[in-house]
Amino acid sequence: MSSFPHALTIRVCSVAFVLSSSPVLFAAPNPTPIVSPGLDLSGMDRTVRPGQDFFTHANGAWLKATEIPADRAAYGVGGVVNELTSQRTAALIQQAVKADAPKGSTAQKVGDYYASYMDEEAIEAKGLAPLQPTLDRIAAIQDRGALARFLGGTLRADVDALNNTNFYTDNILGLWVAQDLDDPTRYVPFLLQGGLDMPDRAYYVDPAPRMAELRTRCQAHVAKVLEIAHVPDAAARAARIFELERRIAEAHWTREDSSDVKKNNNHWTRAELDTAAPGLLWSEYLAAAGLADQKLFAIWQPSAVTGISALVASEPIETWKDYLTFHALEHSAAVLPRALGDESFAFHGTALAGIPQRRDRWKRAVDATGNALGDAVGQLYVEKYFPPASKARIAEMVRNIMAAFGRRIDALDWMAPATKARAREKLAVLEVGVGYPDEWIDYSGLEIVRGDAFGNDQRAERFELQRNLRKLGRPVNRKEWVMTPQTVNAVNLPVMNAMNFPAAMLQPPYFDPSRPVAMDYGAIGAVIGHEISHSFDDSGALFDATGRFRNWWTDEDKAHFDASSAQLVKQYDAYRPFPDLAVNGKLTLGENIADVAGLAAAYDAYKMSLGGKRAPVVAGLSGDQQFFLSFAQSWRLKMREPALRQQILQDGHAPDQYRADTVRNLDAWYAAFDVKPGEALYLDPRDRVRVW
Ligand SMILES: [Zn+2]
Repeated sequence: MSSFPHALTIRVCSVAFVLSSSPVLFAAPNPTPIVSPGLDLSGMDRTVRPGQDFFTHANGAWLKATEIPADRAAYGVGGVVNELTSQRTAALIQQAVKADAPKGSTAQKVGDYYASYMDEEAIEAKGLAPLQPTLDRIAAIQDRGALARFLGGTLRADVDALNNTNFYTDNILGLWVAQDLDDPTRYVPFLLQGGLDMPDRAYYVDPAPRMAELRTRCQAHVAKVLEIAHVPDAAARAARIFELERRIAEAHWTREDSSDVKKNNNHWTRAELDTAAPGLLWSEYLAAAGLADQKLFAIWQPSAVTGISALVASEPIETWKDYLTFHALEHSAAVLPRALGDESFAFHGTALAGIPQRRDRWKRAVDATGNALGDAVGQLYVEKYFPPASKARIAEMVRNIMAAFGRRIDALDWMAPATKARAREKLAVLEVGVGYPDEWIDYSGLEIVRGDAFGNDQRAERFELQRNLRKLGRPVNRKEWVMTPQTVNAVNLPVMNAMNFPAAMLQPPYFDPSRPVAMDYGAIGAVIGHEISHSFDDSGALFDATGRFRNWWTDEDKAHFDASSAQLVKQYDAYRPFPDLAVNGKLTLGENIADVAGLAAAYDAYKMSLGGKRAPVVAGLSGDQQFFLSFAQSWRLKMREPALRQQILQDGHAPDQYRADTVRNLDAWYAAFDVKPGEALYLDPRDRVRVW
């Protein structure tokens, strides 16, 4: 079974710490600008043969000259575009701060959210007082009913199994409100496993010495957080909290299993929660969560939900109270006194991801404002930075790539005619969103108060929960976006048969209307092709044109697809960045197929766009060379070892350097760079994977 993250994922590891460096670093550490409107010729290393190592051929001089900034796990084009977008977004937010906008207006909310987050002095002065009511409520828990009510009150709409894939929540369960996989006309509440401090169960159960060391450090971190809050007997409590988390982790599903839709598409009635997952007092829990009236639930990772529920009953209430105290502190560390945030970063940023230095507060404030008021900030962003002409040119590229994909479907010799007809049907109603959504989120129900960073954060989370709960019982809106326009990424929404290409992704080096089209097709074109292909690959095959979970392939289609997939699994399993750790060809299969298919469709569309004319030669490079180099430069990235290891373990995407090597599956690449047998990347024509 393939993995299921559909986002292109420029972000590379834990969400919180990889974005943006300082404005000074943006210009300073590189001898050549990383983002050039055309290709970065001086960033190449032409002493390395393209067939030997294409990633280094395209990026070698840049790799040598570049150091990863101290506040980052990785540095590359995604990060630089993120940085630029952050700076622009920050400027827009700061204008809102100064605007003295009327109370209740969008500008007031954006401005006051940011200003409150930035007011460290006020945050320090308040100490833990804003959290005190929460801590008091935890301390007052006497029985399982009160425990269930508190746990239910922590439920947030903070996970997403299929669209903007995010499997992590620090609460025992996470909520995702989405189209029912069995009935595309309605929304259902999905419940997903959660409750761990570290990113994944592997950190708790993997016997490797490095993981064992992280477990020791995690327990020390829990103790430190409790000490900062003056909780007595911190070390003993931390040991019990960690042990509880270890048990939760044992119940958890692996990342690979969590991505297998067949295993995860389970419908439980309200009564089945009690019978299949006894322990947690569900009535109390659901009432507190705002889900009291729901009759049907989609249960992802069912045995994990059962296991976690059982632990709520079997573990001492005192241990749960300690656990909740720790999580309440950790969860809000960003808007509580600095000592907490620094400790949280020391563990999650430095120990887990290898990032030496915490990012500047203003950058974190920009991200936090963007999280809380994403569409409000996005609206300001596109007004200024996404002209209608860009939208039109991208829309044309999308049409060409979809046409190329259609032709590829028609030409497939392995797909049965009836299957091709269904693929065509699906392509015809695909909803492609470019730049920003047609409808913006209405924040009128969210109160933002200047000087109340903690309260703003809490209210924004609850607003997002309420906004999602309100979808239940309403018709499904296929035009809804899951990413903000200021996000540097792109995403396929399989259940909605839709795609989002945010405005921030549509800028150099991915896209630049002033350069030769070969370069745009090689970069953003391959991204668009990647996302489109997800609708038709083995995971896309699970969802029909309406988004219903119904496999529209024949067994023969699947058999051929699996045979091609097996070849690709082997190709990626052979990439070994560390002696003790190889890329997981199976975990990354779905994304690798999308890379191959996306690049191939983008190449066809590029040829089509020339209308029979020869592409202009630029700096001695043919159109095809521009196309492939632009592709490899769009994957330019340096990454710290711990972050790279974390990505290989958890992420459905292969490391970027190997994604650049996708080119070895296209015949045109061999011709463009005169790649010969015997070179490291050379594949015998039989071994080049052509799924589409
Ligand atoms: Zn993808």
